[in-house]
Order: sequence, then structure tokens, then C-alpha cells
Amino acid sequence: MNINKWVTTTVVSGALMAASTLAAAQDMADVEIKTEKVSGNIYVLFGAGGNIGVSVGDDGVYIVDDQFAPLTEKIKVAITALSNKPIRFAINTHFHGDHTGGNENLGKDGTVIVAHDNVRVRMSEGSFVEAFNMRTPPLTGHPLPVVTFNDQAGLHLNDEQARMHHVSNAHTDGDSIVHFEGSNVVHMGDTFFKGSFPFIDVGNGGSVDGVIAAASKVLSMVNDETRIIPGHGPVTDKAGLTAYRDMLVVVRERVAEMKADGKTLEEVQAANPVEEFVADNGGFGGEWPKAFIGFVYASL
Ligand SMILES: [Zn+2]
Repeated sequence: MNINKWVTTTVVSGALMAASTLAAAQDMADVEIKTEKVSGNIYVLFGAGGNIGVSVGDDGVYIVDDQFAPLTEKIKVAITALSNKPIRFAINTHFHGDHTGGNENLGKDGTVIVAHDNVRVRMSEGSFVEAFNMRTPPLTGHPLPVVTFNDQAGLHLNDEQARMHHVSNAHTDGDSIVHFEGSNVVHMGDTFFKGSFPFIDVGNGGSVDGVIAAASKVLSMVNDETRIIPGHGPVTDKAGLTAYRDMLVVVRERVAEMKADGKTLEEVQAANPVEEFVADNGGFGGEWPKAFIGFVYASL
């Protein structure tokens, strides 16, 4: 069976559906937005979908990712508790709907959406995420990023720079990590899942080598006091990101060796090259570790 068909048939019915990317399909009425202070100017909002980073200060508010459209009002209420100033910018770490679903509402309000060039391309051309059999039609107008960049961009507000660094072919082909340099905080989008094996969207340009490179790049930029916001899961630090990167390196080597020896995906999955990492990365449970092995295998 081909990998994507396997992932579709095995995983979509699993725990991930409720936990993450397909949360669009669930009833958002019960979702609660929880706010946590991270460091300096930066807060994080947890709800359904990707974690939202919030910068609050004299110049106003800007955010990193915006979850799903039905949650925009709740997100705005949570932000109002931190500041009554407008949301001036929303940075998208990548195009997936659980990180960009609020763009349309925010864009209508006058928030400027900022993202890597490929985020706008994927959203304006329409996209298909094979692993979840999820098709999004071409979008126009407010949902689309208005300001796009290729390699890096800087946002200078609230007495610090937020530096956006594109990392190529990692979770997708349009990922950015956002470094709040003064607050010593990094938002990594979905190049980092804390507590769960990551989803790597191979069909949209992602690769395990790119995810490893993104983690290594961030590790080279941070210190022991840096707080790191993953795309999904709790806020962590350099030690947490190091453990994730090292896990990816080990799994990648094991899978690469077996694939080079001619093993099929099913044989690699049966060999369970992730076994000792499940305790720390089993957050999505069920068949997700096998799906993760599939993403690694497909991208090598
Ligand atoms: Zn994603």
C-alpha cells in the first residue's frame, strides 16, 4: 500500500484527528483559549490548532499564527485581557489551516498578514494535504498574506526585533521560525512538535532533513534561558529542542539505513526504529508513530 494511502486510512480515524490538524472538523464551541506568559513581551495562547505567540507592548499587539476562523472572537477576547491595542500584524509560520484559519477575520479588521512567499503561493493556488486527505480551495483576498518574504524579515515593534527566518523544506516548503530577540523567545511553528512525533508534510515540500536543519539552526541561535514555543505542545527550552533534534537524527539514520538495504516501509515500521522515543513523543498515540516513520521514509 502506498504511504499516503496508508496514513490516510490508518491515521485519520486515530487520536490525531481530535488532537491536531483536523480540529477544523470538530466543534469549536467547546474550545477554551488558555493564556500563558512566556518571557519579556511574549505570551502564548493554547486553543485548538497551532500555538499562538503574542507580542504585547507600547506599539500594539502582533501575533504568530491564528488557529481556526471560528476561534477568532475567543482569541481576540484573550488578547484584550493582555492589551486593548489593535492586532497590527499576524505572522503565519506556514500555510496549514490550523495556523492560518483566522487570517480572513483578522485581515478584514485591518491586521496585516505576513509570511514566507510560499505560504501565499500555497494558499492562493489551493492545496492538498495527502496525509489527512484535506483539500483547501484557492483563496483570494483577506486570508492571503499581504507582506511576503523570501529568506528573512524583521519586525521592529515593542522595543525589540522579531526576526523571521525561513527554513527550507522542513515541515513544508514555506516554514518560518520567529525569533523575538529581546524577549529571548523563539516560535518554531510546526518545525517543532513537543511531546509528539512531528507531522512532516512531504507532499508540500517537507522533509526530515529540513526539520533537523531547522532545529539545529534554532539551537545555534539560543541559550539556556531561551523559551521555545513549538507549533503544538507545551513551551520548552534548549534542552527540550536538543532532545527532539537528537531523536530525529537517530530515527532518520535508522530509517535511511533500512531503506538503503531495500526494506519496504512496512518492514521498517515493523522494526520499530522509534521504540525508545515513544515515551517522550507518544502524545498523539495510536498509529501516529508509524505514520511518522512513513514521513521520514518518504522524504529520504
Ligand atoms: Zn502544520
